[in-house]
Amino acid sequence: MFNLKKFALAAASVAALSVPGMAVAEGMVGISMPTKTSARWIADGDNMVKQFQEAGYQTDLQYADDDIPNQLAQIENMITKGVNVLVIAAIDGTTLSNALANAKAADVKIIAYDRLIRDTPDIDYYATFDNFKVGVEQATTLVDGLKERFPDVKPWNVELFGGSPDDNNAFFFYDGAMSVIQPLIDDGSIVIPSGQMGMDKVGTLRWDPATAQARMDNILSANYTDKQVNGVLSPYDGLSIGILSSLKGVGYGSGDMKMPIVSGQDAELQSVKSIQAGEQYSTIFKDTRELAKVTVGMVNAMMKGEEPEVNDTETYNNGVKVVPSYLLEPVAVTEKNLNEVLVGSGYYTEDQLK
Ligand code: BGC
Repeated sequence: MFNLKKFALAAASVAALSVPGMAVAEGMVGISMPTKTSARWIADGDNMVKQFQEAGYQTDLQYADDDIPNQLAQIENMITKGVNVLVIAAIDGTTLSNALANAKAADVKIIAYDRLIRDTPDIDYYATFDNFKVGVEQATTLVDGLKERFPDVKPWNVELFGGSPDDNNAFFFYDGAMSVIQPLIDDGSIVIPSGQMGMDKVGTLRWDPATAQARMDNILSANYTDKQVNGVLSPYDGLSIGILSSLKGVGYGSGDMKMPIVSGQDAELQSVKSIQAGEQYSTIFKDTRELAKVTVGMVNAMMKGEEPEVNDTETYNNGVKVVPSYLLEPVAVTEKNLNEVLVGSGYYTEDQLK
């Protein structure tokens, strides 16, 4: 019997094979993402699958539930399946060396995606954003917000949160932020009543919102019985949500307790809505569509035996070598430019932000 579906499929693949310039089966790309608990990684995965497939690659996308052995097993499985390329956003940037050595031995090309993979000679390139600048922008919006909401308070009481200490980015974000905040501590404009400073004290393992919320609860009860907090440096929207719950839980945002200025990162929908509602103050927009584009471009070049375009060959030493990198520009977002940046770029629709 004539099977229309089969016929259509056969016709489509013949058409695909015969269209000049149309890439078919350029290779197989394994895409290893850390977690689905944060919308940005879902967007990253989706954007890459779409763009790699459009460029003619097959894809295998896996999420590791923030579990290190799980990510390792998924990557090993991709290597066994015979992928030509691995694109990895690592959970813990130091745990993949052996698996990557096996991949390299099998001639697999390896790209560190957004997060640097450390302690291995085997990664070829790094596609990311200017992570130091992310921190600079987070702190700059924090200080702008302090001036705007607390013009008469001197010094400002600020608390600091860092990202996961096993993620190389967390140190860049923190150092970038401190390049703005430290001079203001030195000149007496900002104090840190808890005294907790440095990534060893302010880091938040696995970027976990509940951990940040619990730490904020402790900081408030131990240091703020006779004063109010004016600002909180938060490196990621998920942590900001935990921090804001803690603050709201003891009355900030109502009566004479003004909401402190809280920063963020990733322009996740819930946090963008929080900015619109006057709770979170700022976030950092990192266009995951652009990061996917840079990554696909790197892979295309490598598969053709060409050198991918990079714009930084100095900053990212992974402990073994300086990894050639392409850094995209982060964009600071507050209520003032939110529509222009996020709707204007088509990242969100107007309806999503209603
Ligand atoms: C990414 C950030 C993200 C964080 C938590 C970092 O490595 O660069 O965009 O907020 O991980 O997922």
